[in-house]
Amino acid sequence: MDYLKLCEVYEELEATKKGLEKTAILSEFLKEIKKEPETIYLLQGRIFPDYDERETGISIQLGIKAVAQASGNKEEKVIEEFKKLGDLGLTAEKLFAKKKQASLFSSKLTIQKVLTNLRKLPEVEGKGAVDKKIGLILELFNSASGLEAKYLARTLLSDLKIGVGTGMLRDAIGEFCFAPKDIDEKRSYSEILQSAYDKSTDFAEVFQRALEGVESLKKVSLTPGKPVKVMLFPKAKDVNDAFEIVGKPAAFEYKYDGFRVMINKDKNGEIKIFTRRLDNVTNQFPDVVEYVQKHVDAETFIIDGEAIGYDPKTKKFRPFQFMSQRIKRKYEIDKLVKELPIELKVFDIIFYNGRSYVETPFGERRKLLEKILKQEKHKITLADQIITDDEKEADRFYKQALEDNQEGLMAKSLTAPYKPGARIGYAVKLKPNDDELDLVITGAEWGTGKRAGWLTSFDVSCQDEDGNLMEIGKASSGLKEKPEEGLSYGEMTEMLKELTNEESGTTVKVKPEIVVSVKYQNIQKSPTYSSGFALRFPRIVRLRPDRGVSDIATIKEVEDKAN
Ligand code: AMP
Repeated sequence: MDYLKLCEVYEELEATKKGLEKTAILSEFLKEIKKEPETIYLLQGRIFPDYDERETGISIQLGIKAVAQASGNKEEKVIEEFKKLGDLGLTAEKLFAKKKQASLFSSKLTIQKVLTNLRKLPEVEGKGAVDKKIGLILELFNSASGLEAKYLARTLLSDLKIGVGTGMLRDAIGEFCFAPKDIDEKRSYSEILQSAYDKSTDFAEVFQRALEGVESLKKVSLTPGKPVKVMLFPKAKDVNDAFEIVGKPAAFEYKYDGFRVMINKDKNGEIKIFTRRLDNVTNQFPDVVEYVQKHVDAETFIIDGEAIGYDPKTKKFRPFQFMSQRIKRKYEIDKLVKELPIELKVFDIIFYNGRSYVETPFGERRKLLEKILKQEKHKITLADQIITDDEKEADRFYKQALEDNQEGLMAKSLTAPYKPGARIGYAVKLKPNDDELDLVITGAEWGTGKRAGWLTSFDVSCQDEDGNLMEIGKASSGLKEKPEEGLSYGEMTEMLKELTNEESGTTVKVKPEIVVSVKYQNIQKSPTYSSGFALRFPRIVRLRPDRGVSDIATIKEVEDKAN
């Protein structure tokens, strides 16, 4: 199919803010791409399925270079236009439209060609990489019209700005493949589609299966080695409330302050470790690879757990922020393994020896773990657990967890299945009221005076049920001027520069990728921000490199905390 056709759909989607209209446009377009289902990735602004972390990896600087060369302009000119228009897509469109008048374009761009070239970008490495990348991009730009250039540029920066989220795509597939008659039918298809997506994390696969029918969707299975979304947990008010939600008796476990890891052993015996944002962090954790290889007796598995750092001298657990550098670090890993050792607390298993265990009750999954896991303190152990129907006993355990400096407890239903990706009451978290939210940075402002050259004020956003981002405040404190004192303005500026996709005056808009924990004094209703709430005295306390935009606080959580 011609790429132009897809660009026209992008235009339609960009032109409306209404979710239902967008869903209708998408559903109409799905008809056209039945034979080319991978086009769905381009609709998401991606080039691979969601489970695959490869992106084009093109920075704004490289994007500007490519647009300059392809449109026959100097880089300064492109930068000047970019500053005026605030968006590389619009800049490319304008400059290409001018060029188009001067010369006639030869070949037509196809979706296949766009995907092929863009998919080569993440592979290009080493000497001459920049030129090779530019070459691949130019090949596309050279056959592009103004409109095509607009969306090519935005796709390169992985930000289409057409407001299409995963919920919307799921509904569009439901609409097109099943044409539900009423709201109940719509809901039930939506659940089936969501569940298929949460296991496969691949909209092209979901679409293809939906075309085949409901039975095919239900057959989506887990494959060790391919990341799957973790199950998420709502919050309970107290032990009583927890029992109400998960039933009696329930399992209570320590809620450790580490980071979530899904560890896979595939049929070739290869171990892969994924974070909850599906990043592959296997190389950063050779210690964890060794622990599971030696201590888990299974041919294949997917186990779910929390990796917690501890002080190598005192052996006491350390809070998450000490460990975050182990997630990001790409070099001198062995040194870091010694300095910041990790204990893996395993709390679930969802695949074992060729079979999925998502439907197996949690109580049995835990028993399976007890059977196949050889525990060794400070390396790999099971989550501390009690099973009880007694409130007092659960309360005592809760107190003990807090005295042991852990975050609180998890209360888990013994009979519940595992639902990848869902924030569902099969288990709930219990922690004392905290004044912290995980939020994503969506914009920033350049500093002045002593802090000139750094981004120093950060727009932070939460999400609604459909994953739409809504601002909730501007945080300008918490970061340090000197890098040795902690997360610094300099470090944050470097990260955000890579993600900048709009610039006007002293403010920038960035691709929502950097998740931070933000402390605040209280939350007030406020018309200033799109969420309708404002954080008073927000302070960035730490980076959460293990979390992605889908993990940030929801508006519901914000509302609960505001009350
Ligand atoms: P939160 O991040 O506050 O939504 O809490 C949920 C997180 O707690 C999970 O994603 C895990 O990373 C972590 N966690 C710690 N201990 C456990 C446990 N025993 N069972 C499940 N999750 C746990």
